Amino acid sequence: MKIRENVNISELSTMKIGGIARYVFEIEDTTEVFMIIPKMEEMGIKKYYFLGSGANTFATDDGFDGVIIVNKIQGIQKEDLGDKIRYTVGGGVDWDEFVDETVKNGLTGIECLAGIPGTVGAAPVQNIGAYGQEVKDSISKILALDMKKQQFVSLSREECDFSYRHSIFNSGLRGRYFIYAVEFILEKGEIQGELYRSLQTYLDENKISSRSPEVLAEAVREVRNSKLPIAGEEASSGSFFKNIYVKEDEIEELDKRGIPHHGTKINVAWLIEQSGLIGKTFHGFRVSEKAPLVLINDSAKSYEELKKAVQEISKVVEEKFGFKLEQEPNVIGVDND
Ligand SMILES: Cc1cc2nc3c(=O)[nH]c(=O)nc-3n(C[C@H](O)[C@H](O)[C@H](O)COP(=O)(O)OP(=O)(O)OC[C@H]3O[C@@H](n4cnc5c(N)ncnc54)[C@H](O)[C@@H]3O)c2cc1C
Repeated sequence: MKIRENVNISELSTMKIGGIARYVFEIEDTTEVFMIIPKMEEMGIKKYYFLGSGANTFATDDGFDGVIIVNKIQGIQKEDLGDKIRYTVGGGVDWDEFVDETVKNGLTGIECLAGIPGTVGAAPVQNIGAYGQEVKDSISKILALDMKKQQFVSLSREECDFSYRHSIFNSGLRGRYFIYAVEFILEKGEIQGELYRSLQTYLDENKISSRSPEVLAEAVREVRNSKLPIAGEEASSGSFFKNIYVKEDEIEELDKRGIPHHGTKINVAWLIEQSGLIGKTFHGFRVSEKAPLVLINDSAKSYEELKKAVQEISKVVEEKFGFKLEQEPNVIGVDND
């Protein structure tokens, strides 16, 4: 285990925001997971926060007076089950590398999640989703260290209570489980049924008729690159605002008001666009021209600036449409208190 002291959290976050962390533990091997709790006890550390690659996380300017436990555990194990394959994947494996491995083996299930930045261990936390797929549908088991019981556990998909951008890991039991590996079951074959509209449009425009996982993953990467900030080139946390879900009996009202929705899901990008916010900059944060849910950090250095930007953007949307925007990314030092 690598231990670092007084680390700038902004360097660990793709949004480039956050003060100093007292300690960082880098966990590189499953055997080191055993050492997390004894090491914290030995060093007298009480507070901790789990981190992957920081693509959905930043911190307040006060930083974090505890240890940030970074998952760097590698390794992909594969077991052939006939028409399916079971993978057990280290939590620190790069998500897109794992997607690549599965599509090259002709497996369907996560091909539309290609190009999402982050680690495998963080994927279940907010149940990553894109282009009509969610990771929950391919997960069979979560292997974790239970910080409360101080033992290794295996959690079934049902126990994780997955839904849109939600699981036990980012709600009621946040901070309880350090996910050191994830087990997936993926099927040989191709995606069935209708594809997500923008993906289908891309395929049609490019005269691509194949739906092989490899072809779809590549198409998704192309569509994403044309619509989303490219990780590493612009500082962001991806979608900053979540889509909003309304109740079934509120749909009629949406139609009357001409607010676009997909079932009970309101298109928040449209609300932001219609509020005249696209391309505008607030305290160093720009509302992305390509993807209105994304805030790009052009020049801000502090969480205080982000807080002000979010308040101002949310106020404009709420005054125009009456909907409160909800933040997707996690904040170290706020979410875990
Ligand atoms: C350009 C861009 C595009 C994006 N596009 C999408 C998208 O299309 N769909 C989507 O769903 N998301 C998207 N995201 C968000 C992000 O990619 C995902 O949330 C991803 O899973 C984050 O992975 P990470 O390793 O960086 O997680 P981190 O940001 O490091 O952590 C995220 C959360 O998971 C917890 N966590 C991390 N590792 C563990 C662990 N081992 N055990 C327990 N808890 C852990 C952390 O405490 C934190 O609460 C995008 C982000 C960016 C920057």
